[in-house]
Amino acid sequence: MARPIHLESVHKEYRSAGTVHVAVDDLSLSIPEGSFTTLVGPSGCGKTTTLRMIAGLETPTEGRIAFGEQDVTDLSPQDRNCAMVFQSIALYPHMTVRQNIGYGLKVQGVSHEERDRRIEEAATVLQISEQLEKMPAELSGGQQQRVALGSAFVQDPDILLLDEPMSDLDAQLKAELRVEVQRLHQELDATMVYVTHDQTEAMTMSDHVVLLNNGQLEQFAPPGELFDRPVSKYVSRFIGTPSTNLVPTTVVEHDGSYVLDGDGFEIPAPADHFANRIGEPITLGIRPQYLSPDGGKHRFTVIVDVVEQLGTEFVVHGRSTAGNNVDVVSSTLGHVNHGDEIVVGFDEDDLFVFDNDGKTICYGDELTNHSPKQQR
Ligand code: ATP
Repeated sequence: MARPIHLESVHKEYRSAGTVHVAVDDLSLSIPEGSFTTLVGPSGCGKTTTLRMIAGLETPTEGRIAFGEQDVTDLSPQDRNCAMVFQSIALYPHMTVRQNIGYGLKVQGVSHEERDRRIEEAATVLQISEQLEKMPAELSGGQQQRVALGSAFVQDPDILLLDEPMSDLDAQLKAELRVEVQRLHQELDATMVYVTHDQTEAMTMSDHVVLLNNGQLEQFAPPGELFDRPVSKYVSRFIGTPSTNLVPTTVVEHDGSYVLDGDGFEIPAPADHFANRIGEPITLGIRPQYLSPDGGKHRFTVIVDVVEQLGTEFVVHGRSTAGNNVDVVSSTLGHVNHGDEIVVGFDEDDLFVFDNDGKTICYGDELTNHSPKQQR
C-alpha cells in the first residue's frame, strides 16, 4: 500500500582524506502517498544520495526519514518494502526473462503459481509477454530495462524508486519507456520517486518535482508551478527549454513612482516591492514562449543569430541591441535568417522579477495588479 515519505532535516556528508563533502544539506520534504515525484537537478546535486537514503542503502549523517508514521531511518533496505531500479541494468545473464522477473519472489518463498501470475501481470503491463522465455542477451536495452522494471513491479512495493532508468537508452526507447513507467504507476499502489537530470522528463512524467541545488532543496511543487511560479532565477533557468531570458534592470524613481529600467523599456514597479530597492540591480526573467513577434506591450529589437526548427515551432537565438542574449519561440518566425532584425514584445504579466541574489521578488501579475496612486 502506497505510503508518504517524510524527510526531516536530512543531512548526508562523506569524509575522505580528511575532507568533508556535503552531498545533501538539511533536506526536509513530504512526498505525498501514491504520488509520482521526480528528483531533478544538475549532476552532483544530491539526487542519487537522497534516493539511496530513502531506500536504506545510505544512512543519513543527521535527520530522520519516515514512511507514513513509521520511522525507517535505521531500518535495513529489505524491511522497508521498497523496490529500486537502477540506471545500469542488472539482470542475471544465465536466467530467462521469466526467471529474472520472478527471482525476488522465489527467494521470498512465494509459490510457483503465484509467481507466474504476478510475472505475467507485470509482463502484460510492460508489454514484454512475448519475451518471457528469452535470455537477457536476446533483448534490446529498452526491453532489458522493462524486465528490470518488471522485477520491481512483482514485489508489489509500497515505494518504488527509480534512479535514471532511461539515461542509457536512445530517444525513441526513452519515449516508449516513459509511457511504460507511467502505466506502472497507474497499476501499482505505490509512491514512486524518480531521479533524472532531464527536466523535460521531470516535467512531463511526474505530479510533483523536487529541484535540488548543491544538496539543498530549491523548490518542491507540481510541474506547472515550477514553470509559472519559480522561487528563484535558478528554478526559472533550469525548468523550461530554451531557458528563461534574463534582462538586467535597475529600480529608478520617476516623479514619485518607481520603474524597472532596462534594455529600452520601463516597467512600472509597485512601491511595496521596490520602494526600498532604488538603484538596486534587478533581473527580469521572460520565457522565450512569452516573447511575441506579433504583440506585447513592451517591444524591443532582437538581432538574429541562429534559427532552429522544432516541429511546428521556430527557436530564434539572438541578442538585444543592449547585447543581452535573447531566445524566442514562435511558430511564425520561419522566414528569418542570421543577421535579420526582428521586433518582439511581451506583457508585464509574463515576467519574473529576481533580486541580486537570484531570489524571486515578485511575478508579473503582481506588477500589473497595483494602482499607481499606491506607489508613493
Ligand atoms: P548525478 O546526476 O551525476 O548522478 P547526483 O545529483 O545524483 O549526480 P549524487 O550522486 O547524489 O549526485 O552525489 C552528490 C555529491 O556527493 C557529489 O558531489 C558526489 O561526488 C558526492 N558523493 C556521492 N557519493 C559519494 C561517496 N560514496 N563518497 C564521496 N562522495 C560522494
